Amino acid sequence: MHRHSSPHRDIAAADIIGAGIAGLWQALALARAGCEVTVYERDNETMTASASHVAGGMLAPWCEAEAAEPVITRLGLRSLDLWREEIPDLPFNGSLVVAHPRDRADFDRFARLTGGHERLGSEQIATLEPALEGRFREALFFAGEGHVEPRRILPRLRERLAELGVGIRFETEHEAAADHITIDCRGLAARDTAPALRGVKGEMIVVETSEIALSRPVRLLHPRWPLYIVPREDHRFMIGATSIESEDRGVSVRSALELLSAAYAVHPAFGEARIVEIGAGLRPAFPDNLPRIDIDGRRIAVNGLYRHGFLLAPALGELTAAYVTRGEIDNQVMRCA
Ligand SMILES: Cc1cc2nc3c(=O)[nH]c(=O)nc-3n(C[C@H](O)[C@H](O)[C@H](O)COP(=O)(O)OP(=O)(O)OC[C@H]3O[C@@H](n4cnc5c(N)ncnc54)[C@H](O)[C@@H]3O)c2cc1C
Repeated sequence: MHRHSSPHRDIAAADIIGAGIAGLWQALALARAGCEVTVYERDNETMTASASHVAGGMLAPWCEAEAAEPVITRLGLRSLDLWREEIPDLPFNGSLVVAHPRDRADFDRFARLTGGHERLGSEQIATLEPALEGRFREALFFAGEGHVEPRRILPRLRERLAELGVGIRFETEHEAAADHITIDCRGLAARDTAPALRGVKGEMIVVETSEIALSRPVRLLHPRWPLYIVPREDHRFMIGATSIESEDRGVSVRSALELLSAAYAVHPAFGEARIVEIGAGLRPAFPDNLPRIDIDGRRIAVNGLYRHGFLLAPALGELTAAYVTRGEIDNQVMRCA
């Protein structure tokens, strides 16, 4: 971290483009830093086309360390604190990683590459998640992790912004005002100014059943991608997510089979569950799959949140606010034109 003589210290007004998870946390951080903030969102309040709408909402800095750079863990741990401060009643029940005996090598590898966990035997698993009694001999428990339900947390963050006096203009394109700072959080739509962005497809299925209850996300190690089941309210479960280098938003039969089989393998009660939704979203990613804050005069672009948008957005908001108000630069994430 070093200081930069920011041209923005005197700026009191900030326009945020995009009301996905990145934009909302940028708005919160800047409003709390004393800026007069307005958010512009081209979609309506449902925001069904955004990546944030279909996300799992897992806040899992330790689990993600298996495949991500250390900067993701650093920012993710800071974000967990910010989530807790902002919304103290969030369920921070940790997360559980399990594997079938044939994937034992993957399980040991995952344990080696990640920290912040303890190994549980079958009795401890049953104490933590009674529905999983007798289903797995071993699990990794990441007690410090949490999760949010995206379709409930986005409106909640919007309410929080309204309390701070931040206006959100839906179905409105942004018009640049000369004396405002602009924070571009358009996700994949920002390719006109960031051509290196690509969409990485994530497919997911939501099911409903009252035959099983879980208190935390359960990840089942899988040879091709990490599959997980995230408990939602109203007896629903989100089963996710594939990771495919494609910008087609369709869900293939093969992916649906794999996702549903994974849930069934975690507990056969999922076999009787009702399918509520099958969908896909495109994760905005740069070639290195790392997030970036690009600073170019009064325009700042926050993008490339890839599979970590909910995990990273609070910390990225804090970094932008530190730059705008104090000229602080984080060398790992920020680039100045
Ligand atoms: C299946 C799936 C599962 C995932 N699970 C997780 C998870 O468990 N944990 C996690 O941390 N992350 C997860 N992610 C990743 C996460 O969803 C993304 O990283 C995050 O949503 C990206 O947020 P964003 O705000 O950058 O983009 P978006 O959510 O796409 O928001 C961009 C917004 O900008 C708006 N916009 C675009 N152009 C304009 C314009 N000109 N004017 C106004 N508004 C505009 C769009 O309408 C959109 O609403 C998952 C993603 C997928 C697809």
